[in-house]
Amino acid sequence: MSSVKPPVEVADIDAAEIAALAARVKGPVLTSADEDYDAERTGYQLARRHRPDLVVGATGAADVQAAVAFATGHGLPMAVQGTGHASAGIAGSGGVLINTSRIAGVRVNAEAGTAWVAAGTRWDQVIHEAAPAGLAPLSGSYPGLGVVGYTLAGGLSLLSRRYGYAADHVRSLDVVTSDGRLRHVTVDSDPDLFWALRGGRDNFGVVIGIEIDLMPVGTLYCGGLQFPGERAAEVLAAYLDWTATVPDGLSSSIAQMSYPDAPVFPPELRGREALHIRIAYSADVLADADRLVAPLRALGPTDDTLRELPYTEAGSIYNDPPFPGSIEAGTALLGELDADAVRVICAEVPPQTVLPHLFELRHLGGRLAHPPAVANAVGHRDARFLFNVVSRRERADIAEIRPAHRRILDAVAPWRTGGRLLNFMNGEDAGAQVRSAYDPADYRRLTEIKAVYDPGNTFRLNHNIPPAGPLDPEASSGYCD
Ligand SMILES: Cc1cc2nc3c(=O)[nH]c(=O)nc-3n(C[C@H](O)[C@H](O)[C@H](O)COP(=O)(O)OP(=O)(O)OC[C@H]3O[C@@H](n4cnc5c(N)ncnc54)[C@H](O)[C@@H]3O)c2cc1C
Repeated sequence: MSSVKPPVEVADIDAAEIAALAARVKGPVLTSADEDYDAERTGYQLARRHRPDLVVGATGAADVQAAVAFATGHGLPMAVQGTGHASAGIAGSGGVLINTSRIAGVRVNAEAGTAWVAAGTRWDQVIHEAAPAGLAPLSGSYPGLGVVGYTLAGGLSLLSRRYGYAADHVRSLDVVTSDGRLRHVTVDSDPDLFWALRGGRDNFGVVIGIEIDLMPVGTLYCGGLQFPGERAAEVLAAYLDWTATVPDGLSSSIAQMSYPDAPVFPPELRGREALHIRIAYSADVLADADRLVAPLRALGPTDDTLRELPYTEAGSIYNDPPFPGSIEAGTALLGELDADAVRVICAEVPPQTVLPHLFELRHLGGRLAHPPAVANAVGHRDARFLFNVVSRRERADIAEIRPAHRRILDAVAPWRTGGRLLNFMNGEDAGAQVRSAYDPADYRRLTEIKAVYDPGNTFRLNHNIPPAGPLDPEASSGYCD
């Protein structure tokens, strides 16, 4: 029978035990009384920051094992943070936070076409170490993201329409589970845990390192086409028609945003709303690239940066801001979009003067729609588009942002699949709506695997998957939308 235990706080724990933990761990062990506490708990996302009782700056597996054993032993909840990019963040209060940023490093095996990547490593390091061998990882639009957090939640790459999710290309993981054990997890050693970690993210342990496939990609045909915001209806309709015609190697998205009046932006679009079609085309031979994008070029973009670039320059396609901020985001997966959808999106996405925001549609399908060679927990492979709306609190009032995002998401309800991608999920959606990241049967299986590997739900300061139990109402599957 499941029972609810009273919450435990570090204040209830003997100071000598905390001192003993600090003596075992090579990295810092800090409380809010310590000067470095804020720096240790803070990542890219500032809207919601973890406020742990203890933060452990782990330097390797032994530090993580000590921290996990301490938390489990005292019934404290845990959170994990690499770069702190978690899209609109989920922040834990109390408990123990493990910061993995010191556990960084990459080993490329060019012959096998793989890389072993340590927990705190960012994609840019992998990209640069893989490039001399003519290889590229399944990294996303922004190379500053952490490899492990991104991959464990699925990982939608610039190359995903050609190769699938990043989680589809994980060969093995080293993970510390809630019992403090360091396990080398493969499909043969622990098939259930291997399935669950690839999609279930931080619900099953702290990943110390991950072995991933690299792809034979050295060069992309990529960049952007930009248009003035007043052409939104025409350009969005043409873009959607065009996506139905492109090969799997062609990934793209369309975004609407406003540009500051700064020299870094195209002169005609400075200080104005703009539409930005972003393109990343990967194929063995790129000779047909100009022909493929011709229908978009025929629209007469104001700015055109499409050209061949080495994969090491792929971050320039989206040019996501590298500086931290207070990000609020809403997200949904959509099916096929028709003329009505274009009309609704253009009518309901508010002008930038009302709410500064970035709205985007990322084209899915291609290899993303196929099951991976080794099954994992990543769901909703039939979705056609990812819809995101993002605002920075620095530019808009929080009291305006949330209702505006909600209105936009409600407006596109007829095209929503009911699912979401975990990587783009808002902190506000944590808990009750986590199950919307999974197919119902997979969610049920995740709760059952959680009950085996983390029966006390130690890893719960996250987008939580609770352990299944006979009387646990959370264990029932289905969407909560
Ligand atoms: C500018 C920007 C661009 C983005 N572009 C893309 C994109 O193209 N494709 C895409 O899929 N996503 C994208 N995202 C979303 C991004 O993938 C998620 O925010 C992801 O969670 C970031 O992982 P992280 O490790 O960098 O962040 P963190 O906040 O450090 O971690 C994210 C989550 O992963 C867990 N985690 C981290 N390390 C470990 C570990 N060692 N063991 C267990 N759990 C761990 C954490 O507990 C946390 O829940 C983008 C986000 C931003 C801000």
